[in-house]
Amino acid sequence: MKTISTKFSVNNEGFYGEYGGAFVPEMLYPNTEELKENYIRIIESKEFQKEYKELLKKYVGRPSPLYYAKRLSAKYKTHIYLKREDLNHTGSHKINNTIGQILLAQKLGKKRIIAETGAGQHGVATATVCALMGLECKVYMGSVDIERQAPNVARMKMLGAEVIPAISGSQTLKDATNEAIRDWINNPEDTHYIIGSVVGPHPYPDMVARFQSIISKEIKQQLKKETGKKNPNYVIACVGGGSNAIGAFYHFLDNLTVQLIATEASGLGLNSGKTAASIAKGKPGIIHGSLTYLMQTNDGQIIEPYSISAGLDYPGVGPIHAFLHDEKRVDYLSIKDKDAVKAGFLLTKLEGIIPALESAHAVAALEKMSFKRSDVVVINISGRGDKDLDTYMKYFEI
Ligand SMILES: *Cc1c(COP(=O)(O)O)cnc(C)c1O
Repeated sequence: MKTISTKFSVNNEGFYGEYGGAFVPEMLYPNTEELKENYIRIIESKEFQKEYKELLKKYVGRPSPLYYAKRLSAKYKTHIYLKREDLNHTGSHKINNTIGQILLAQKLGKKRIIAETGAGQHGVATATVCALMGLECKVYMGSVDIERQAPNVARMKMLGAEVIPAISGSQTLKDATNEAIRDWINNPEDTHYIIGSVVGPHPYPDMVARFQSIISKEIKQQLKKETGKKNPNYVIACVGGGSNAIGAFYHFLDNLTVQLIATEASGLGLNSGKTAASIAKGKPGIIHGSLTYLMQTNDGQIIEPYSISAGLDYPGVGPIHAFLHDEKRVDYLSIKDKDAVKAGFLLTKLEGIIPALESAHAVAALEKMSFKRSDVVVINISGRGDKDLDTYMKYFEI
């Protein structure tokens, strides 16, 4: 988990180029300072690494397989590997981060955990690690998301978490995040806020990126073993806040021969007014404590995002992605709802893998790209699609 990249690493003030920082209310300053002062020392300690690796192996089930998708490869006339984060305990990459953060919270002496969730995957991953460690857990969730992700709500409750509906604004992820921040302000001493993506004030984006970087670390090792090549030609991942993408890109960032492709949710289309493509449609602004691309009106009001996929339904994006976009290190594609659904059905039909709607946005990139026969393409399958079956069924016209 060493910081390998210098050019794309966060600086001491918490910035990636001009993006990032910690724009928090005065009252939160001690909390973010406490994290900033301690996170690297704790994460890099032998004791932490031992516990973290042990849990990833025996509890999460890592390493997740790197699977050669034979029939998908034949269709696109290239070599496609799937990084199977969908096979992790709780069904997505989110657990890599929550395991890391709960260990960190324990080392900081915290007794109470709060979190926000969109698709419910981060809420489930947080409720899971709280049950594992016996810590109190409150999860804030937009009431629209509570409705469309009912199975995950039931899982969180069964795991002992209290699920608190956020009823302001669009009643989705950004509103849940606002409520969680409010809770943290009111409980600064005993509470750790587990943020679920590479968003929020410094040091969260860097901390979460480090925890998710296990994905690309494994890809490198597995690819070498499988093909003898150390590096793929392409790595493709979807972007909501951007944590699974950074995890999949991390150890390739400094190697410019590896093309990094991120897909954001264009919803009903970039100019439809119903989109969550914050890189394509956003401008620099501050959301949840960091400066990044944000979908906003000319006078700075946040534009309500829309995506068929709850995990991508966020008006901002992690500050590192704003930087990687400006630096042209990563290509950001916009994928429409209907193309994501189509890709979800395609992967299911050809490989017997039902991807999360979020991950289906990454698979959909294949249609927009062209490959050489000899290319090696890795797609990060960030999660499994069980939670999205109701949505998929609406498109199942037979
Ligand atoms: C939450 C989620 C995402 C989006 O979050 P990132 O931080 O962008 O990775 C993507 N896929 C799945 C399965 C998710 O649960």
